[in-house]
Amino acid sequence: MMDGVGAEVRKLIRPLQADLKRLLQELVRTNSVASPPDGNETPAQQVLQVFFREHGVKSVLYDTAFIEKSGNALVRKNRRYRGRKNLHAHVSGTGRGKSLLLNGHMDTVPPGVSAWSRSPWSGQSGDGRIHGLGAFDMKGGVVANAAVLCALVRAGIRPSGDVLFESVVDEEWGGGGGTIAARLRSGSADACVISEGTQLEIYRATRGGFTVDLIVDAGDTSGYFSKSEVVSPAIAIGRLLGWVDRCAKRRARLKSTGAYKTFSDPVPVQVLAIEANGLGREIPLSVPSRATVRVYFQFLPEEDVDTVIDGIHADLVEFSKADKFFQKYPIQWVPLLGGPLYGHELALDHPLTRCMAESAGAVLQRKPVVTAAPYPCDAGLIHRDFGIPTLLFGPCGAGAHNVDEYVEFGSVLRTAEVLLAAALTWNG
Ligand SMILES: [Zn+2]
Repeated sequence: MMDGVGAEVRKLIRPLQADLKRLLQELVRTNSVASPPDGNETPAQQVLQVFFREHGVKSVLYDTAFIEKSGNALVRKNRRYRGRKNLHAHVSGTGRGKSLLLNGHMDTVPPGVSAWSRSPWSGQSGDGRIHGLGAFDMKGGVVANAAVLCALVRAGIRPSGDVLFESVVDEEWGGGGGTIAARLRSGSADACVISEGTQLEIYRATRGGFTVDLIVDAGDTSGYFSKSEVVSPAIAIGRLLGWVDRCAKRRARLKSTGAYKTFSDPVPVQVLAIEANGLGREIPLSVPSRATVRVYFQFLPEEDVDTVIDGIHADLVEFSKADKFFQKYPIQWVPLLGGPLYGHELALDHPLTRCMAESAGAVLQRKPVVTAAPYPCDAGLIHRDFGIPTLLFGPCGAGAHNVDEYVEFGSVLRTAEVLLAAALTWNG
């Protein structure tokens, strides 16, 4: 039966292929960068709404600003939502089956400071790839989600359960605002798939994450070139980096009992940036008065994240008490985005995991890999806070949050086929 489903969904997606490619290119060419507290997602959401209209799918574009006054404790206070719009669409089922939510985010990170080989907004196609910022994270996935609804409407198929689509804002930078708005406005579902890039693997778990800036102010602007003794945090942060390294090694000894069991470093601790003075020609030769180390911690779904963070903070306090320099110039602990993100895990034998594994098997003609995501995302919110069983399945690509990002377009089509097969067979 499932082999039949594989052939059926291929037939349903194939006529849309050229349109989907053009849509993806147009979405990549439409800047939807989020840079806290703001985000510029709406023009790309409008592109997608026009596409839906042309394919007979009704959709609703709505402002997410209402969450600021919703009183919901999950809403971050350090963001602005006015004018940032989510796109919602759905295909009603016959009511016999359970509903399936296809979630994706339209915002991208900024292109960064390193040089791209082509414009981040080129949307260029070549070697089976679509190039550009957000192609992999995650406009390719959003296009695959949209394809499912377009294919159902085009073929006049009513699945047994409702199929819900949402393209949300404010996922990058751990915002979650778009997904929170979607839950408050569009309600719940029986299951959710987020089509983040997964290399056509099924990710049944995501990690938690927390970013903190460790700032040392040891300014002595009057001193350099004028006093014999100069105070600078530049060498002291070398010792601070040593603390981060020891912390990372201690965390790396942690053994996962769940989906991350096979990961060699299940809870990475990474230094994302170090800043102390600058190298540009506009910077005079002098010592820095401030040094910052930006550290990114990740957590297993089964960890008590808040307690772990408290422990790390306490350890840092101990470290600085034993260091004369840091006694005098304290290390400031400044969370970058506010509170942490929490991970999630869906059981291997959950009906959704089984349905996705069967659908992927039928389309890909092989046993699919079921593993865990090397990153946090909105899954934690949807699964833990809103109680919707969630997993990730999406296209192949590379360069997320880096230069020369691309997605393999064939894998976008495979994602659409797998999600369509899941929508047709999901009954909880
Ligand atoms: Zn993403």
